Amino acid sequence: MPIAAYQDGNAQMGGSPFGRRRFPLRVRRHYLDAMTPVNGEGGPGAGHPALVVVDDDDSTRTRVANGLRRRFGLDYEVVECDPQGAHARLAGMRDARTDVALIVANAHLKAGAGTDFLATTRDVYPTARRLVLADFGDNWIMPSVARASTLGQVDHFDYLPWGEADEHFLAAVGDILADWATETGQGEARMTIIGERGEPEFQLLGEVLQRWQTYPVAMLEAGTPQADKFLSDHGIDGPLPIVALADGSKVLTAANMTKVSDMVGAGADARSTTYDVAVVGLGPAGFSAALNAASEGMRVILINDTFSQASSSPMIRNYLGFPAGVSGAELMRRGWTQALMFGAIGRIGRRATGLRHEGGRNVVPLDDGSEVTADVVMLAIGVEYRRIGVASVDRLIGRGVFYGYAAGDAQAMTGTDVAIVGGANSAVQAAAHLARHARSVHLIVRGSSLVDSASDYLVELVDALPNVTVHLNSEIAEAREEQQLRSVTLRDRTTGAVSELAVAGLFILIGAVPRTDWLPDELARDEQGFILTGDECPMVPGSEQRQLQYETTIPGVFALGDVRSGSVKRVAAAVGEGSAAAQQVMRYRARLGAPREADSERATREPMPVRA
Ligand SMILES: Cc1cc2nc3c(=O)[nH]c(=O)nc-3n(C[C@H](O)[C@H](O)[C@H](O)COP(=O)(O)OP(=O)(O)OC[C@H]3O[C@@H](n4cnc5c(N)ncnc54)[C@H](O)[C@@H]3O)c2cc1C
Repeated sequence: MPIAAYQDGNAQMGGSPFGRRRFPLRVRRHYLDAMTPVNGEGGPGAGHPALVVVDDDDSTRTRVANGLRRRFGLDYEVVECDPQGAHARLAGMRDARTDVALIVANAHLKAGAGTDFLATTRDVYPTARRLVLADFGDNWIMPSVARASTLGQVDHFDYLPWGEADEHFLAAVGDILADWATETGQGEARMTIIGERGEPEFQLLGEVLQRWQTYPVAMLEAGTPQADKFLSDHGIDGPLPIVALADGSKVLTAANMTKVSDMVGAGADARSTTYDVAVVGLGPAGFSAALNAASEGMRVILINDTFSQASSSPMIRNYLGFPAGVSGAELMRRGWTQALMFGAIGRIGRRATGLRHEGGRNVVPLDDGSEVTADVVMLAIGVEYRRIGVASVDRLIGRGVFYGYAAGDAQAMTGTDVAIVGGANSAVQAAAHLARHARSVHLIVRGSSLVDSASDYLVELVDALPNVTVHLNSEIAEAREEQQLRSVTLRDRTTGAVSELAVAGLFILIGAVPRTDWLPDELARDEQGFILTGDECPMVPGSEQRQLQYETTIPGVFALGDVRSGSVKRVAAAVGEGSAAAQQVMRYRARLGAPREADSERATREPMPVRA
């Protein structure tokens, strides 16, 4: 949910004015000052996170380091090392409590492969991003880079920059630093939320905004010195919870998701209730459907409750166009910006609670009591995490217990002991990611072997991580608390023996089921609850006409992505379905003889204001 706050205090909805350079404000300000004099050796000194460049070729190292200084020197200290001295230098920096954001190494060091060197830095600086650089065309090293990246030894690959001002290289580093800042909480918060601990709306705002968006959000408990300072600095007073942009230019008191939704993306006509298309669910399928429908001129509203499964993926490596991988949260952030740019309107933090077909249209009631009417409803609601069925665990949801895992959760777990329940790829992936931040990670698996449930490369990855312990044949019997989760009781499923594990966080990833029980009976589903579409739908007696491929048994209701029976559960597949379904929606509406009411509303809308 991007909010770009201009330095003049105005807020622009829907994305960075610098497009792909998604710097925290502090860093972005520096980008504006790119013409300021170049920093000297060593940069601004202690207190700033470091970018460490390791190469035994002096001229290449200087070229890379000088480029980084020119672009990032105001906010990061750029440190040059040869491989022989690098470990001592890194250890010294750790002792001096200097943060390291990025370690860059040439793939061809005289002493060996750059990937091997980078692997050895993980113990000293687990949260630093690791970037390996190769000469253009040296593609033969790709298999070893791919392996190192699979094993979590290297995070990013790029070609060596042509010169000190190689824009593509510097932009790629900017993206890496923005991800690092978001993940480690180093970026300046874009939005501050102040509320009472345990208050449901405060908790909901935190969950949705922290987990769903990729910009840093500060959650402050009312009455703490930080909260008091923020309120007095910005002259804010009023009922809690309070949501404010970092510069205080926009403030909501007695905030709830409807108000926040209006603030961040609903646009001027958010209160309108009639649309051409209502997309329910904003994951890859919903975003793709929304932006494709909006790009065809349809008036689209997006309705979403919490966050997409895709946001749970710390790194998606199999999506076209991102050779170095992309975090699910970043992909969703871009999808949001793109959908808004095509004119879609967002209703975020709202749950669809029903669906009825009346008067040739479809009506979707929302959990705030409002209703949305549209010719077409596109259901892209994905699947929901399966519950663990232990009451003491579920009582602690949001207080140390989480269903699913988003990369943004890692920061809160820094230096703590955590447990993950589950043995499939998503749980193992989460364990590997959390291992960079947490002191120890316990993976609790019901089965007798991880190999049966997770991909070989992921099993190999966690095997290599010294702070991950796998507990086979195990399950959670109970959770203990003192306001927050304090420990869990593990039960050995073969012997019945129990043991206590002190943990501050418990992430449950034990599979997913479709969440379709709120939909009407006329919407045909398979025995597991996935929605039937196209030829899978039962024939309507007396009718020869088959549904379109993504059409359901209710006229004008389409289903796409993971919630559709028989779908391929992948990001790329969901995006493809969204795009194809949008085309079918056009055919469906043409049959109806659209344009209709919503289109005439659009025709009378005010033209978009133009900045002077
Ligand atoms: C940890 C993890 C890692 C993964 N890694 C990869 C990977 O590397 N590569 C890959 O290709 N795939 C990966 N996947 C799978 C991929 O994320 C899914 O296939 C994809 O997100 C499905 O997209 P979708 O749009 O169908 O549903 P989702 O992404 O689940 O989005 C559904 C949205 O609908 C909302 N919603 C649900 N019900 C309602 C309602 N009633 N009202 C309003 N909103 C509602 C949800 O809050 C959610 O935001 C991963 C999944 C997980 C969990």
